Amino acid sequence: MIDCIFCKINSGEIPKEFVYEDEDVAVFDDIHPIKSTHLLIVPKKHIKDFYELNDEKLEVKLNKTIKKMIKEKNLEDKGFKVFLNGGGAQIVDHLHIHLTGPWAKGS
Ligand code: 5GP
Ligand code: ZN
Repeated sequence: MIDCIFCKINSGEIPKEFVYEDEDVAVFDDIHPIKSTHLLIVPKKHIKDFYELNDEKLEVKLNKTIKKMIKEKNLEDKGFKVFLNGGGAQIVDHLHIHLTGPWAKGS
């Protein structure tokens, strides 16, 4: 069993309120937000990072979830930034996508 903080959150072992959840994906607030919206979009399955993601269905699901969250947080025209860290630049070795906003134009 991998000792992974996001696997523990996904499974409910560490209690965390989900902004969204389905069978493939969980979305929850980053513990150290850099903006009023700072969500982590996380596959349920343990995947180390973006480079290790080899599941087209899950890729589509993640993209759809990002868009859904942009809409839910009313960021469509308020400025959002989506990023992910990998290849060793990440702190948590479980694939996650950051959605942050609102951002001013050009910031
Ligand atoms: P990264 O791996 O993308 O560099 O950063 C990991 C992100 O996860 C950071 O923004 C950090 O604040 C967040 N994070 C780390 N541990 C936890 C946790 O236990 N709960 C939540 N909600 N976020 C976390
Ligand atoms: Zn994990």
